[in-house]
Amino acid sequence: MMCLFCEIVAKNIPSKIIQEDKDFLCFEDINQVAKIHLLIIPKQHIESFELIPSDVMANMTNFIHKLTKKLFINKTGYRLVTNIGDDGGQEVAHIHFHLLSGEKLKQIYKR
Ligand code: AMP
Repeated sequence: MMCLFCEIVAKNIPSKIIQEDKDFLCFEDINQVAKIHLLIIPKQHIESFELIPSDVMANMTNFIHKLTKKLFINKTGYRLVTNIGDDGGQEVAHIHFHLLSGEKLKQIYKR
């Protein structure tokens, strides 16, 4: 059985695709918590950041840089978050980076 995000990659489950190439996909999060809330995933099923090979991570970085330029947020800023495992609050076991932007985000790691 395919995981939820593999189903999205296969287009068996619809999503609002923002950017796609042969290895990566960016689509809108279904539950928007910021003015811009996207998910970036490798098409390959990799469970979490713990298991991502560094070359895939490097290519994903290039994919994200292209995306942030396209959205004109490369200068104004954004936040990338990846939740890992139970304690990290990961709900979908296919690595994904949340990209949050489009507004001044609340600082959640600072007092
Ligand atoms: P996480 O808690 O980090 O594993 O994040 C999983 C994210 O997937 C959540 O922010 C959900 O809103 C999002 N999500 C769940 N189902 C879908 C879907 N069908 N399309 C887009 N985003 C989804």
